Amino acid sequence: DEPVSALDVSIQAQVVNLLQKVQRELGIAFVFIAHDLAIVRHFSQRVAVMYLGKIIEVGDRDSIYARPRHPYTHALLSAVPEVMLTAQDAPRRERIRLAGDVPSPISPPSGCRFRTRCWKAQDRCAAEEPPLVQLSGNRDGHLTACHFPEEPSTGAREEDIVLDPALAALEEGGPDPAATETTRDG
Ligand code: SF4
Repeated sequence: DEPVSALDVSIQAQVVNLLQKVQRELGIAFVFIAHDLAIVRHFSQRVAVMYLGKIIEVGDRDSIYARPRHPYTHALLSAVPEVMLTAQDAPRRERIRLAGDVPSPISPPSGCRFRTRCWKAQDRCAAEEPPLVQLSGNRDGHLTACHFPEEPSTGAREEDIVLDPALAALEEGGPDPAATETTRDG
């Protein structure tokens, strides 16, 4: 759970490298919980996004990052810093700012837990909890829990997720197999 979040970036790279070495040598899987979307993308083959204690979207890394269907996932990806964007690219970027606070997990909202902060919420969202299902247009294994999901054409651009150079250097060897990472609700 957040194994590298409190570390200096160069140390982060060393720890990530060590974890991947251990994974290669022992052939094990990791459940890696983190807020840093760049590290999640670097480390994981499958990604689960949680909100208020529930998985609201899960799928392979490329599918989740390139084609988020849940509004919360889309908002998370849109909030990544733009330090790598050029002035020409920046105006195309849509940043979604969520209103309100995260409700108490002890007494979550009825229906969809995200509805009190979702800009697409309708009456059905309060009455009926959306099931985690594969939507039309999604890859196998990409599941989303939303009554009114984002269009399949809604995409987060590759450059929206900025990987620190120290971590980027690790990608030369490619990702390790069998890692699973989960972004924490917030
Ligand atoms: S089910 Fe409704 S409130 Fe929940 S994420 Fe989808 S549109 Fe928003």
